[in-house]
Amino acid sequence: MATMIIQGERTKAASGKTYEVSNPATGEVVDEVPAGGPADVDKAAQAAHKAFATWSKLPANQRREILHKAAQHMLEKVEEIATILTKEQGKTLLESRLEARRFGENIAWFADLADKIHGQHVKLPDTTTYGLVVRKPIGVCGAIVPWNFPLTLAANKVAPAIAAGNTVVLKPASTTPLSTLACIEALIEGGLPEGVINVVLGPATGEAIVEHPLIRKIALTGSTPTGKRVMAKAAEQLKKITLELGGSDPCIVLDDADLEGAARAIGVGRFFNCGQQCLSTKRLYVQEGVYDELMEKLIARASKLKPGNGLDKDTRMGPMHTETQRAEVEAQIKDAVDRGAKVTYGGGRPKGAEYDKGWFIEPTILENVPDGARMWTEEVFGPALPVRKIRDLDEGLRLANDTQYGLGSSIWTGNMKSAYRAVQELEAGYTWVNALVIAHDELPFGGTKQSGFGKEHGVEAFLQYTEEKSVVYGGIG
Ligand code: NAD
Repeated sequence: MATMIIQGERTKAASGKTYEVSNPATGEVVDEVPAGGPADVDKAAQAAHKAFATWSKLPANQRREILHKAAQHMLEKVEEIATILTKEQGKTLLESRLEARRFGENIAWFADLADKIHGQHVKLPDTTTYGLVVRKPIGVCGAIVPWNFPLTLAANKVAPAIAAGNTVVLKPASTTPLSTLACIEALIEGGLPEGVINVVLGPATGEAIVEHPLIRKIALTGSTPTGKRVMAKAAEQLKKITLELGGSDPCIVLDDADLEGAARAIGVGRFFNCGQQCLSTKRLYVQEGVYDELMEKLIARASKLKPGNGLDKDTRMGPMHTETQRAEVEAQIKDAVDRGAKVTYGGGRPKGAEYDKGWFIEPTILENVPDGARMWTEEVFGPALPVRKIRDLDEGLRLANDTQYGLGSSIWTGNMKSAYRAVQELEAGYTWVNALVIAHDELPFGGTKQSGFGKEHGVEAFLQYTEEKSVVYGGIG
């Protein structure tokens, strides 16, 4: 049975309650896990608070070295961790390996910033004094993570937090705790002091983290409704928050685009991780002149995505993560079809005995999806893509921005002016121009509108795990 990681202990829940984690491809139980609650979060917060006293005072270059060593050790276990991730999440082994590797790389990337926190020296009108602006870590930070990219999204929070000298109480999604535990164990084995990252498990621990008075900052990745609840709760104690929430990323393809590149990016953008991505191509707007040719290319790509158990070598798309998640996407497809949309590819469940016990779904492409259909107005968190023909860039930009979300966006065009306009006018935290939808360590990532606020990745994320303090030194004149 798995246990929580709280300081030096590997603990069961205070209540003694447990739950099972099951494999989305087979329905088999992968492991039994403690169902933690407020008492466990309290223990973890106290442990993180205690660890903060020493971790935050370590010379920054020592923190950097510890994190590099720990990340290196974790990276040696990628294969083992990837298998656990596939079993609990469903994604293919290839996807799991990439994700596990990204966890270690992210820790290493932020480790390099640990000793590069700079303040300012400021001249003051009274020349017998001078001012300083110093940056300090915040304290104990709460990290709340969803199930679609359990490791990447945990690292996005934990890595900048601990590099800046904070300590963490981390809550993985209830259905994907095991690979996260394996990553944190590997960091500890690799030299990360106990107590710097504490892991609590179970659905009830999220709210308890937001409510705990010792936890000073909350970073949540999750759905927009969860973000609103967390923000309201966090407001009661005026906690700092970062919210990475839902998205419905548009992609515009113009007549002068590199269609091969566009088809590849859209295929990856919509079908990677069985479409369960925040950054993704969720609405496609294609200019009339290249519409038919692009559709042909997209169908060809979708037809190569053989669904199956992520552990099988020939699988190109794993199952959806849960039955509920699949039902949601199927309802969105049905809504579009009921309103008159045409299913151009897929649209159902793959057939065969090997698919009977898992939450499999076909990669799906829909055309003529009418205005007002759920696929346009809601986030589609699965491998189904609505496509619409547009006359020109004006129409594309109008439709692209007609959403409450503002996470990612992309445009494919050979025309610099069109690209520039899209960059200026697309209402999103990220715009890819003729490029694969991938979040880079070097660039700040985060949404606008109802996709949230605050940044992960980049120096910007690191600074958000520090606080500025002004200092006046007198008596020098
Ligand atoms: P979710 O909102 O249901 O849960 C996310 C996490 O929050 C889980 O760990 C959950 O236990 C916890 N949680 C739920 N209610 C809580 C509360 N009241 N207080 C504190 N914690 C609470 O999301 P999900 O279904 O796990 O993930 C899918 C969603 O996440 C999608 O909307 C997706 O777009 C979004 N997402 C966003 C990003 C991004 O970077 N913007 C990345 C990945 C996923």
